[in-house]
Amino acid sequence: MFEKSIENYLCSHSCERLHLRAVLFDMDGVLFDSMPYHADAWAEVMNRHGLHFTRQEAFLHEGRTGAATINIAYQRQYGQDASPELIQQMYQEKCEAFARHPEARPMPGTAELLQQVKAAGLIPVLVTGSGQRTLLDRLNHQYPGIFSPERMVTAFDVKHGKPDPEPYLMGLQKAGVQAHEAVVVENAPIGVQAGHAAGIFTIAVNTGPLDGQVLLDAGADLLFPSMQTLCGNWEDFRRATTIVLSTANDRAINDQR
Ligand code: MG
Repeated sequence: MFEKSIENYLCSHSCERLHLRAVLFDMDGVLFDSMPYHADAWAEVMNRHGLHFTRQEAFLHEGRTGAATINIAYQRQYGQDASPELIQQMYQEKCEAFARHPEARPMPGTAELLQQVKAAGLIPVLVTGSGQRTLLDRLNHQYPGIFSPERMVTAFDVKHGKPDPEPYLMGLQKAGVQAHEAVVVENAPIGVQAGHAAGIFTIAVNTGPLDGQVLLDAGADLLFPSMQTLCGNWEDFRRATTIVLSTANDRAINDQR
């Protein structure tokens, strides 16, 4: 059932098959159910500073750097970027507002998926735009032995945040693999754009309130409604990745008969 999506990817990237060796995971909304808290924190701080910004927008712009998120609201209202001082002040307030929420819970289904990934000998890599120490520190506690520090890309590593492909290209580099040897697991439109732009097969999981079509429009190769459904389908997906493009072409010919 996943062959068609894989064939489409292979055709448009002129490669014969996916040699799956690494899985690149986003953090917020994938590893942790933290997005509702981020959305609350953004809306609270933006409104406190007189900027119009809704929770829904926080989900739409998830994955952008703090500065970029602030400037979307600031540009819209004042036609210019916010000053570096204001950006720093607001981002600090946003982090404080986020920290006042209870600890974000691990996303249901994720621990099981990470176990499957690890058991299959695949390399898990973290690729997040977040510089939120509280969550980064909890990674090893919540998912022990999964992500090693040298296989993490965070806000501290990249010059260009998502939707730029840089974070995912760096993730490939840290895993020592090429684009057709990895898949991305993302929940945000901008993250999907980044994975897609990096030339990687990108799986979207719609763990928030957005319409799934937004994720497909952003370039997702596959869409699941939750991490649990991705986990439940993972083995089938992995088997499907062994498909070779010539076989895919034969099948297309057979289908036409
Ligand atoms: Mg995310």
